[in-house]
Order: sequence, then structure tokens, then C-alpha cells
Amino acid sequence: MSNSTKYVFVTGGVTSSLGKGIISASLAKLLQARGYSTTIQKLDPYINIDPGTLNPYEHGECFVTDDGAETDLDLGHYERFLNVRTSQANSVTTGRIYQSVIDKERRGDYLGKTVQVIPHITDEIKERIQILGKNGEYDIVITEIGGTIGDIESLPYVEAVRQMMWEEENNCIVIHLTLVPYLAAAGELKTKPTQHSVKQLLEFGVQPDILVCRTEHELDLNIRRKIAKFCNVSMNAVIESRDASTIYDVPLLMQEEELDKVVLEKLQLTTRTAPNLDSWKDFITNFKNPETEVNIGLIGKYVELKDSYKSISEAFIHAGVSNKCRVNVKWIHSEKINDDNIVDELKGLDGILVAPGFGSRGISGKIQSIKYARENNVPFFGICLGMQCAVIEYARNVLGWADAHSTEIAEDSKYPVIDIMEEQKKVSDKGGTMRLGAYKCQLKSTSKAYLAYNTEVINERHRHRYEFNDKYLADFEKAGMIATGKNPDTGLVEIIEIPSHPWFVGAQFHPEYKSTVACPHPLFVAFVKAAIENKK
Ligand code: GLN
Repeated sequence: MSNSTKYVFVTGGVTSSLGKGIISASLAKLLQARGYSTTIQKLDPYINIDPGTLNPYEHGECFVTDDGAETDLDLGHYERFLNVRTSQANSVTTGRIYQSVIDKERRGDYLGKTVQVIPHITDEIKERIQILGKNGEYDIVITEIGGTIGDIESLPYVEAVRQMMWEEENNCIVIHLTLVPYLAAAGELKTKPTQHSVKQLLEFGVQPDILVCRTEHELDLNIRRKIAKFCNVSMNAVIESRDASTIYDVPLLMQEEELDKVVLEKLQLTTRTAPNLDSWKDFITNFKNPETEVNIGLIGKYVELKDSYKSISEAFIHAGVSNKCRVNVKWIHSEKINDDNIVDELKGLDGILVAPGFGSRGISGKIQSIKYARENNVPFFGICLGMQCAVIEYARNVLGWADAHSTEIAEDSKYPVIDIMEEQKKVSDKGGTMRLGAYKCQLKSTSKAYLAYNTEVINERHRHRYEFNDKYLADFEKAGMIATGKNPDTGLVEIIEIPSHPWFVGAQFHPEYKSTVACPHPLFVAFVKAAIENKK
């Protein structure tokens, strides 16, 4: 491995949900803004090979990278903050570590040896961490360890960190996130949980270099001194992390606390220039001072857990800012929409988005919402299953094929307008076998998509098994629904539009995965713009 690569480990203590992902992304942003090439990696202690098989209620959205990795939603934050692509290597689970060690054992790579957690599992973990530093592409690798210190399942990761701290003393530091709770009855902030959490890390042989303390109140000098003294860190390494009104404020808050400076100091790197965050600050100013606002309905079946649609709601923030507009997302449960309440549910919306998904639950509400958008000239954006539902709706209500459906839901439909992809027919395993990752798409120059992207060939990420059934394309186009984007190699229909409608676009891919603060996604930007015009 390259000696010059530095490693920052981020662990969490006291409780989950302290925002390790956002702190990691914010630190990376600050280091990047100082000219250091930085990447972030997430190590997840669960036994699934990847979160692709997890129900969104378990872990929120499954994020997909260009190279087709199904990953934790934190990778989405990393990409949105850094505007740098992540890959398979940025997401590791215990399942994957064990799979690889067991494969090696079966191949005979350890022949004669007893295969154990230490050293074999920990070596595999270290290898996965160091792989990102190997080709010299990154100056700094930030590795976030999922879970909370003390969890049985994250022990091998903490041990791997301990070993790396020992083997590469000057190249590694540990940032530990903790909670400093406020006890209202005592009127005090309490440091004991932080002390205990650091003690626990010490039991595993790891002394954190920096403590990021999540708190609802200011950490005064006394508290900072106390934490520093009892946890063996310097005063300037006690970093206050207050609740922010938006996650995009966190890099600036961390800059005020000088987290980046302390990190560089401890890694023995020069601070170089002051971070240039001008465009980031402009983004926040525009976000907080919109000139107009629109209401957009997000129709989905996982709306109780908003993390299930994380990238979509963030893409709306980016697209809103670039239109100087606040996008109020109205979360609408597709299962709750029916003939009686549809007008009440959807009236007053300036745009309607139908979300991705799997299976039959909530499908009819999605189809009804699309009919409403189409007939009432409300801007419509369908993503993946949302696009497929738009095709089904058009077949039923415009082409008059009442029985039309997707074979995912009705295998014996007379009009299977959405059908399983040829290469998917022989697939039986569920994990990692969808059409995943980035594929090219050729746009028709007369389309709304082309107007949005202003280029003819785009590259977008996919996660699906079913597709538009080409057999019916001529019928659809004759009736006014046009395929405006196709895969240039396979001819698969990737985008459908209704040109006679103000803005009706369905995408088989997931544009939300590629939207970042620096590059809001063109289709989201165009959709929000259409919603603003519709409102007028
Ligand atoms: N269930 C659909 C398919 O597999 C859509 C998937 C999605 O929305 N991501 O094709």
C-alpha cells in the first residue's frame, strides 16, 4: 500500500443515529475543500452480503453506485457532499468479509491453518480498508464503522482498527462520536456516557484521537476540559456537534469547530490553504432564502420511513435550490389512495412523483395518481416502478387494454406491457442479480429529457428486473406515449414521455442517485421548473 495514504476511522458510542455518516461526509468535504483527495468507506456489521435484499423499512433506501454495488444510504450522502463517485470498494459488510474468507478456505488458500476471526477475518477487513489507499488515488480514506461500540458484531472491525493504529501509527487516527445528553431536571449536560464509551474503546485497545460530541446545548470550556481530561484527548480535539437545521450546514459547523484542522494536525499533514467553500455557502444561502415554493406529492408505499426515499428527497433539495424554490414534499401513501379520496389527496399539488418499488402493494394507488396527473396536466415524474406504472396506466386508459399489467404483478396478463428482461429469465438468486449500475441511454433530440440534459447520450444507474415490452411500442407511440430514451446497445426503452402533456416523463433508471449539491440532477431540475410553471 502507498505510505502516503492516511486513514481516518469514525466510530460511534452511547447510541445509534448520532449522524456518523453526515460527520464523515462533512469532514471529507472540508478536507476536499483544502485540496486533499478524499474518499469515504462504510463498514456495516450485518451478515447480509449487501443491503440489496433488505426491506427499506429495515435500513432505508438501498443506494446504487455506477459499478452496480447495492449499498448503504450513507454512500449517497458521501456522493452528494463530495461530488465524487463511490464504488463496490466503498461498501463492505460482515457478510462479504466472511464470504470472501470462506471462499479462500474452500480454495485451499489457508491450507493447514485453522481459520479464525483473528487474524483471518481482521486481515480481510484491513485489506478492504487499504484497498482504497492502494493506487495512490486518495490522500485520505475515511472509514466509517457502522453500529455502536460494544456491539458484539462490530468487535472484529474495532480489532482491525486497533491493528492498523499499531501498524501505521502516523497514518491513522480515530474519531469517536458520542452523545452528551442534557438532563433538564438537573439543568446540566452529562459527560459520563461519553467517558464510559471511551473506556469501552480503551478496553479494545483503541484510544480515540478526537471526540465529536453530539449535544443539544453548547459545550462550555468546563465541559470540554472535563471530557478532555477523562478521555485522554487534547482540548481542541473535543468537538461540539449541535443539531443543525439542515445536514448541509454540518460542514460549516465542523469548520467552526476546526475539526478539519485538528484532523490534519493529528495526521501530520499541512493545513494547506483555507478550505474554499464559497459554492457550498451559496447553496445554503439559496436553500434558506427561496423566492418561491412548490408542493410535490411523492407517492410511494414506504412513506412512513422517509429514509426509504432519501436520495429522492435530497435530489429535490438540490433541484429546488437551482430553481431558487423551496420544494415541499407531501408524502402520500400509495395504499391509501382510492377513487373516493384521490381528488382530495392530490389537489393543490404542483407536481406528482411516483416512486420506485417492488411488488403489488400500493400499485393501484400509483396508477390512479398517474391518471390524475395525466388528465389534469399536472407535471409527472415516474421513477423505475413509477415509470412502469405510467406505461400500465396509459395502456389501460388510453389504449383501452383494461387487463394491461406488469408480469411482476400479473404473470398471465393479456397485455404484459412491462415484462421481465430476457437476461433475467434464468435468474433465481435474489441478491445482486438485478440489472444494476450505470448504462448508457440515447435521447431523442426533440424530447423533454433532451431539453433537460442538453446532451444526447447520458449515463444513468439502474436497479430493476422488468422493462417496457418492446412488442407494444408502435401502439404506444401511435397513441401519444413516446420512447424518448433508449439503450444504444440493446434498444431497451429507458424513458417514456407524453409530448402533448406539459411535463410527463418516466425513467426506467434512478436519476436521484446521481444528484449532488454541486450537480443537481437535470431531470429533477426540469421537473421542479415544470411544477413552478404549473403553479403559475
Ligand atoms: N420492480 C420493478 C422491477 O424490478 C421496479 C424496480 C424499481 O423500482 N427499482 O423492474
